[in-house]
Amino acid sequence: MIQIPARELPLEARSALRRYQREVDAEPDFARRVETAAAKFRQRNRPSNVVFGGVRSTLTAMCAGAKRCMYCEDSAADEVEHHRPKNLYPEHVFVWQNYLYACGPCNGPKKNQYAVFVADGSIVDVTRGYHQPVSPPVAGEPLLLHPRVENPLDYMMLDIQGDTFLFVPAADPQSREFERAKYTIELLRLNGRDHLPVARREAYGSYRARLVEYIHRRDAGANASALNLLIDALRRLQHPTVWSEMRRQHDLIPELTHLFASAPEALNW
Ligand SMILES: [Zn+2]
Repeated sequence: MIQIPARELPLEARSALRRYQREVDAEPDFARRVETAAAKFRQRNRPSNVVFGGVRSTLTAMCAGAKRCMYCEDSAADEVEHHRPKNLYPEHVFVWQNYLYACGPCNGPKKNQYAVFVADGSIVDVTRGYHQPVSPPVAGEPLLLHPRVENPLDYMMLDIQGDTFLFVPAADPQSREFERAKYTIELLRLNGRDHLPVARREAYGSYRARLVEYIHRRDAGANASALNLLIDALRRLQHPTVWSEMRRQHDLIPELTHLFASAPEALNW
């Protein structure tokens, strides 16, 4: 998971979302707001709705590679996902900053699960069970990392050295940062789907091969536009976290130390 570049919505879509949100907020109590949030989102999140057409095309432009999911970077993103679930936070159902573009295998199991750090620092799972009353969740800071507002790689790292290609929390085990990384990895099953580390390992090989090709072509005298095409192709590969981590960890992995010494400019790609 890498940080997603910021992008603004077209003006008309922005004002329409604010208008949609006001309709939900105007309901007289929390249970009604939850109900209206679900109904209105279902009604408007359709291809025929031009506002959501704008939402989806802007989210698509923010995704890595060929419209890859903002969580797993592996499957195609096709679901407008709420970071704060709409059944817990109806006041965020039409808030642009709350939207991510995700794939079904990430969004499905995540569902309406959410947890927060409450005032005394302990963790409270605020997910509402089927038979629980529809009341507002206890206030607190979210555990789930938000790749549009923070860099997930400040909290976790990819184990390339050990060749597992699993995510591991980067911070001290007693810290909030550790808990946030752990919660995110587990909730989104970033390590729990066997094909994901396999795909990350394959991406590592693809990035390495592209970098080797670049070095060969550069040393053979290729011109700048030919080299830029190679760089652009590398940047479009899937699993951009792998490339980000190859750059960050290059001092620790001998073959990368060697490659980046030959092409230090690649540290900025
Ligand atoms: Zn996904």
